[in-house]
Amino acid sequence: MSAPEPIPGLRDIVRTRLGAIMRNPIRLPYVTCAMCTVPITRQYTLCYRCNEDVRGSQAAPGHGLGVPIARRIVPLTYALYGEQSNIDMHRYKDPMPEPQRLRTPSYQRVLLLALGFAMVHASCIDRVSVRPVSCVSVVPSLSGRPGRHPLLSVSDVLPRHWQRVELRGVSGIPEAQRRQVRAGHFLLHPTQQVAGHHVVIFEDTWVQGGHAQSAAATVLMSGAAEVTIVTIARRVRNNQRSPGEEALRNALPTSEYTLDICPVTGRSCP
Ligand SMILES: [Zn+2]
Ligand SMILES: [Zn+2]
Repeated sequence: MSAPEPIPGLRDIVRTRLGAIMRNPIRLPYVTCAMCTVPITRQYTLCYRCNEDVRGSQAAPGHGLGVPIARRIVPLTYALYGEQSNIDMHRYKDPMPEPQRLRTPSYQRVLLLALGFAMVHASCIDRVSVRPVSCVSVVPSLSGRPGRHPLLSVSDVLPRHWQRVELRGVSGIPEAQRRQVRAGHFLLHPTQQVAGHHVVIFEDTWVQGGHAQSAAATVLMSGAAEVTIVTIARRVRNNQRSPGEEALRNALPTSEYTLDICPVTGRSCP
């Protein structure tokens, strides 16, 4: 059953503006990764990287192992290489004056993705969790860009009752190491408490998930009871041939982006 529509016409606006460009992530056992929804080779349930992260999190602590991770990843769309969905995920945050950004279709689409999620599906996370979401942290930019990151502006549409928690990227860590999952890559602001809370980590694009999972590790090691990663896009190479990607591509042309598919479950809302 689908949730009631908080803004009349929202589903139609989303279909009109995003239908031909964005792609609902698919959750199909043995076709897509049960965590990050990337297409996988049959007989597996997780992609290579998520499987490695899970194994690492279960190992004895030390040498970068035993780092807790988020198991629930909620991408709102696929960003397909070479297609507008992927271009949008770069262009929405291109340096430009803010008034111009608000008129930029890529920014408007990314904002609409987040708004649709916030209005229709944010509460779906609560229904599949032990405790409801009470905090959100935006994965901070590690590039040291000046000014407010556009992802923070996008995150303003997320539910008001999700308390904003600030994470800071630790500087001086080489990019190659950034891809690994390490709680030490981020610092929680000392005045901010996440102990016992269900924290959403909000990210723009998931490529391998190292940044978001490191942020998840930081809040889990600070006592968060539960973590869910919400990423606007899961980037997918669609120029590589594999059975999973073939299956995904076969499923894609017939489906236009809709709020009727829940990003939390891949089906109807829980
Ligand atoms: Zn995965
Ligand atoms: Zn839902």
